[in-house]
Amino acid sequence: MKEDRIYNFNAGPAALPIEVLEEIKDSFLNLGGSGMSITEVSHRSKWFDDVINDAVERTRRMLNLDEKFHVLFIQGGASLQFCMIPMNLLGKGESADYVNTGTWSTKAIKEAEIQGKTIKVVASSEDHNFSYIPKNITFSSDAVYTHITSNNTIKGTQWASFPDTNGVPIIADMSSDIMCRPFDVDKFGLIYAGAQKNIGPAGVCMVIIKEDMLKRVPDTLPSMLKYTTYSSKNSMFNTPPCFAVYVIQLVMKWLEETIGGLEKMAEINRKKARILYEAIDSGDFYNGTAQPDSRSLMNVTFRLPDEALEKRFIEQALENGFGGLKGHRSVGGCRASIYNAIPVTAIEALVDFMKTFEQKNG
Ligand SMILES: *Cc1c(COP(=O)(O)O)cnc(C)c1O
Repeated sequence: MKEDRIYNFNAGPAALPIEVLEEIKDSFLNLGGSGMSITEVSHRSKWFDDVINDAVERTRRMLNLDEKFHVLFIQGGASLQFCMIPMNLLGKGESADYVNTGTWSTKAIKEAEIQGKTIKVVASSEDHNFSYIPKNITFSSDAVYTHITSNNTIKGTQWASFPDTNGVPIIADMSSDIMCRPFDVDKFGLIYAGAQKNIGPAGVCMVIIKEDMLKRVPDTLPSMLKYTTYSSKNSMFNTPPCFAVYVIQLVMKWLEETIGGLEKMAEINRKKARILYEAIDSGDFYNGTAQPDSRSLMNVTFRLPDEALEKRFIEQALENGFGGLKGHRSVGGCRASIYNAIPVTAIEALVDFMKTFEQKNG
């Protein structure tokens, strides 16, 4: 830990690996011998081609994507995907399934409904304040896709494994857990992730889309809202968010070369989550809000005995160099976002602080 840095548990934008930040700094004035920074080179140059192609290739290797999948970079965040998915993929007379596991799923559903699309909410965990991931869901056999939110950033729940949808392709909002663990991509028609949680800075959304989904895109949509515009132009129909794509490239390189791939990353993430949940479960002072079998590896949500103590906890944490522990404004409480970039040592330091705070205030 560098002296002037804090332990950053922000939910998003969130911590990036220190090695990546150092590399940005070191190569900033002269990207790959160009004599220019990434914010100054043309997106039609060899330098930027190398950046975007390497980001795509590393993503492909890490997730074992075959040639049926396209990796795209689209601006507008995950929120634009809530709109683009039904717009591009769901035709007249067709229907899609949605599972509602919290704020972000609810927003995805709303954006489909705004467009007058036919969707069916096949399961919801709203009955228990979105504290769990629904089980034994009956999916529609004639759905074009099934939309899920793989990790619920605000409530701190995560799908431990992906459901069997009888061959209907899954579309997943993986904004807050993409690259946190390996998974089988075969079940998926589309995966999307706003970069600013686990893979980069704000300003770009990674979209992984299967060829047969691209065939559904109507010609009549405006160019900037069509997946095919991005897939046919290597995400460079217009000027892409060059800096954001560059940072994603460096994060993928870090994952592959420094961490050693997604198996290793998952092992580290499981260890981090175990240490933190064990501390929360060790007494009555801290209380986890997600049901144990639905707990997230990425966003750990918990409460203290009362709101005054929570306020003091968050304040004193900050004074001791632990930032971002306030829960989402819609739910209150505390949340530690422990994305890939957060090392085990940061979790150990946080747990030490939590124990000391409990001794003084419990
Ligand atoms: C943050 C978040 C979003 C919203 O992302 P934007 O890029 O700000 O649109 C959507 N889904 C999930 C799961 C998120 O965590």
